[in-house]
Amino acid sequence: MTTSRSRGARGGAGRYAPSPSGDLHLGNLRTAVLAWVLARSTDRRFVLRIEDIDRVRPGAAGRQLEDLARLGLDWDGEPLLQSTREAEHRAVVGRLTAAGLTYECYCTRREIQAAAGAPHGAPGVYPGTCRELSAAERSRRRRDRPPALRLRADVSSLTVADRWAGAVAGAVDDFVLLRNDGRPSYQLAVVLDDAHQGVDQVVRGDDLLPSTPRQAHLAGLLGLPEPEWAHVPLVLNPEGKRLAKRDGAVTLAELAAAGHGPAEVMGWIGLSLRLPGRVRTAQDVLAVFDEDVLPREPWLVDPSRWTGQPAGRTS
Ligand code: GLU
Repeated sequence: MTTSRSRGARGGAGRYAPSPSGDLHLGNLRTAVLAWVLARSTDRRFVLRIEDIDRVRPGAAGRQLEDLARLGLDWDGEPLLQSTREAEHRAVVGRLTAAGLTYECYCTRREIQAAAGAPHGAPGVYPGTCRELSAAERSRRRRDRPPALRLRADVSSLTVADRWAGAVAGAVDDFVLLRNDGRPSYQLAVVLDDAHQGVDQVVRGDDLLPSTPRQAHLAGLLGLPEPEWAHVPLVLNPEGKRLAKRDGAVTLAELAAAGHGPAEVMGWIGLSLRLPGRVRTAQDVLAVFDEDVLPREPWLVDPSRWTGQPAGRTS
């Protein structure tokens, strides 16, 4: 799919990069609309990437693209299948390893959790257990378990500037580059593929904000430009938890079956973005998009009581 709009002054691009693990729900669709409208309203290209190096459900990627098109989003070029880039991902890890910037890690998930829960550990931060293993210890451990490969990070935190969240400080640990099945990690692939696709504006759910300092650090280490970050507050259910499939009719197909077509869903998304009037199409969103009125809080919805108005409210 192509667009007649000109490239941004710097030839940059925004993107949407779903994992094909299932159908997109209302929260995913809202993030995609925001990524699209921010790219288009700043004269950028908009590209898609199917992040199929992890959980893949057969048929999901195709349905995700159909749903984005059904909402009227368009994109430039063919969507990139992340798995086709594995050789490049591995080549970069090879270069980091040759520079002494990686090490093998034999820890199980449980061991990492236990270490992170120890008095000086921090949740979600790898404490460096395998950083200084001797060669003898490594060959002994390799017999029990294939290693993952981690970055030997020379910083422990970094502050990134988020377009909506402001300055965000976060941990940079020795994160995984190659998993112990030999495949590239999300953190590695996302940085390399954004650069490969010319992405200079990353709009995504704010559940990924804690990963952003790691990604900014890796980009800097590899001499890649750091994109602009814009993290979108998530959509929450009435219990204040992330909206999920079990919350009711939340995908376009489920909503259509309940009598709510794409134009109506776009209207709900428009209301949640505090856009004036009643939008029905992506072009309507682009025409009235106003970044200054965007809510900075999560959108609360109750899919068990869709009424044609968003049952949730922005508060
Ligand atoms: N593939 C990730 C997801 O669907 C998003 C990655 C990103 O936007 O950086 O959650």
